[in-house]
Amino acid sequence: MHTDLVAALDIGGTKIAGALVDGHGRILVRAQRPTPARDDGDTVMRAVQEVLAELTASPLWGCATAVGIGSAGPVDASAGTVSPVNVPGWRDFPLVARVRAAAGNLPVELIGDGVAITAAEHWQGAARGHDNALCMVVSTGVGGGLVLGGRLHPGPTGNAGHIGHISVDLDGDLCPCGSHGCVERIASGPNIARRALENGWRPGPDGDTSAAAVAAAARSGDPVAVASFERAAQALAAGIAATATLVEIDIAVIGGGVGKAGDVLFEPLRKALSTYATLSFVRHLTVAPAQMGTDAGLVGAAAAALAKRTDPAAAGV
Ligand SMILES: [Zn+2]
Repeated sequence: MHTDLVAALDIGGTKIAGALVDGHGRILVRAQRPTPARDDGDTVMRAVQEVLAELTASPLWGCATAVGIGSAGPVDASAGTVSPVNVPGWRDFPLVARVRAAAGNLPVELIGDGVAITAAEHWQGAARGHDNALCMVVSTGVGGGLVLGGRLHPGPTGNAGHIGHISVDLDGDLCPCGSHGCVERIASGPNIARRALENGWRPGPDGDTSAAAVAAAARSGDPVAVASFERAAQALAAGIAATATLVEIDIAVIGGGVGKAGDVLFEPLRKALSTYATLSFVRHLTVAPAQMGTDAGLVGAAAAALAKRTDPAAAGV
């Protein structure tokens, strides 16, 4: 008997994943569709409805008491709308109302994908047991979320902790967001690869110019590849140190493809942190790789739904 099931949706630019998740974070039923990201908004919504239809067809659906959504952002949780950068057909799209209608009027909780991953890491991953944490996803973009005082802190619109667009280089390169010198503009996978190529790094015979290829080159000692990761680490460290100084986090968890680079990222990151996180109350700050895998978005969306259900007054987990 499952008395505490929730439905979870993880909506990104390439796939829409759904699941029924129990109170221990176990995924009992799954459904998935590719995101028709270049189509109109209703076509994208139909893919969400197909995922939900598979979940509602499960005999376990009757035990589901809420729906949690983690979506590519920006999201506006206060309005119940989403405007994912990679899904142009959705601008101020009323996702919460549409999901509620397709899910038998269950309560629906919406958070950004960075916040969802933070909820998952706090519940089951590297931030478990930490009351104040910053969790980051460093991949094509850089996102994140905050746990403060033992609870997820999504903020009014569900985007709080979006560290990728904190400026760490005042006169730095223009970022697609409109600002300059953002963490993402320096530390994302494509920017690590771009900087390495600009400075003379060349890919191997396979022609792979991804950040993962730059990481492999850095591991074998290529100085340009090493330097590109050091620069990314420096930007991440400055953003993490600023966050720690503002709200007193004691751990920063780093996931995403770049987070998998291992020591070529984490060694210079720890070194740079000692440069930027200098005050007594941030000096103990640790960094750790993320532990949750590809289900982090689903598990985090479920965590947000469970928290909302058990404490309707709460803003999050
Ligand atoms: Zn930016």
